[in-house]
Amino acid sequence: MARYTGPVCKLCRREGLKLFLKGSRCLNKDKCSFEDRKAPPGLPPKKKGKQSEYSLQLREKQKVKRIYGVLEKQFRDYFEKANNTDGITGEVLLQLLERRLDNVVYRMGFASSRAQSRSFISQGHILVNGVRVDISSYQTKIGDVVSIQEKFKKSSMIEQNVQFSQSLNRNPSWVTTDFPNLSGEITSLPLREHIDLPIKEQVIVELYSK
Ligand code: SF4
Repeated sequence: MARYTGPVCKLCRREGLKLFLKGSRCLNKDKCSFEDRKAPPGLPPKKKGKQSEYSLQLREKQKVKRIYGVLEKQFRDYFEKANNTDGITGEVLLQLLERRLDNVVYRMGFASSRAQSRSFISQGHILVNGVRVDISSYQTKIGDVVSIQEKFKKSSMIEQNVQFSQSLNRNPSWVTTDFPNLSGEITSLPLREHIDLPIKEQVIVELYSK
């Protein structure tokens, strides 16, 4: 599937927000170009005039697409699915995005970013319930066990990511991670309060409901 391959720091600048697209680098103030105002990585956000309602809705949608690395068509499909599911549409939308395998691998702490997670998955390094899954958008469910392929367990990247994740200790409550065995389980579905992203999902629902 086609994917944005341009400079990602530029996207943070465009949205006026740190989107954390480069893993551990994003947490280092000296390395994050969003924090280095002398060297802005992209277009500065427009400051003049009041943004229209449509423009605000559009930006909110772009922000979410960029955080999860999803393109327009796929994002629209997620919205349609959320809209046809019981529950609050905006929350179901975020839940569907959180349940993507690339996000789960990242949330469990095995990858430093969702982009790196997608790379691990496409290279066949990720197993779900013991079976290799090479589809980043794979929808995980409660009880699924996600693990690292045996040969890849000794990779220095995995080692670094695990060390870093353990130092942060911020795995969400809907997954458990067994770091020594490099596996994790989805124990519940993510609720809105478990998703620590500055997203106004209702605004996106309003955009698509026009
Ligand atoms: Fe955004 Fe900073 Fe990470 Fe670049 S390093 S992706 S600007 S948060």
